Amino acid sequence: MALFSTALGSALLLWCGIISTMMSSRNFALIPAAGVGARVGAQCPKQYVPLAGKLMLLHALDTFAESTAIAHTFVVVSADDGYVKDALVHSPHLSDRVTILYCGGATRRESVLNGLRAARDRIGDDDWVLVHDAARPGLTEAMIDHLIDTVRDDEVGGLLALPVVDTLKRADAGRRVEATVSRDHLWAAQTPQMFRYSLLCKALQSAENATDEASAVEAMGLNPKLVEGSPRNFKVTLPHDVALAELYLKAMP
Ligand code: C5P
Repeated sequence: MALFSTALGSALLLWCGIISTMMSSRNFALIPAAGVGARVGAQCPKQYVPLAGKLMLLHALDTFAESTAIAHTFVVVSADDGYVKDALVHSPHLSDRVTILYCGGATRRESVLNGLRAARDRIGDDDWVLVHDAARPGLTEAMIDHLIDTVRDDEVGGLLALPVVDTLKRADAGRRVEATVSRDHLWAAQTPQMFRYSLLCKALQSAENATDEASAVEAMGLNPKLVEGSPRNFKVTLPHDVALAELYLKAMP
């Protein structure tokens, strides 16, 4: 009987520990915004291009700031960024919701890792970090909620993504079709990508060529969860994407 109650007590303690870790985990957003985005062909880095009445970066910043699920947002810009201060000057509502970190790196991975390190004192090991591209202005609070609700109890983490609908072709060096690739089980990754702080730091440190957080986590032998995103959360990359983003933002602000 004594043995039974000790075992029961330990199980209860373990369960309470897991529940309290889950309940006390906060959600932070981290936006790497230190790229140039030359393919858009703008005069300034693409995150500062005006879109539907405000600069591209501000769309994602406002969405995270309005979300009650997000404790705080960090934005990583390059050390010599000359735009972000002006961009925020007309947004006093963001001043206690957003911290700018001037520590961008040469690649997206470096910018995210530098940002995570710079925010070390503010984020706990078990807190969730939602890494989101500044170049995806179509993110909505509903997408953030859907991601968090689906991933918060997961032991690995996950990301927004869309099932691939087009038929895929692999090209040869002469840009002729070498093969048709099956689209079964293929998804196109979006952001936010949501992982616990300590796992994310560890994954990104060792995955030098990772182009997103999920691929760094995959390199550790783990399988992030795919959560269905939305076409409006596409990444603004080419000149015509600016007009498309405006259409989405004006039709469904
Ligand atoms: O260039 P691409 O659109 O793939 O960049 C995705 C995100 O990563 C953008 O928000 C961009 O500003 C950011 N980035 C960064 N540091 C780099 C390169 C890209 O923060 N060196």
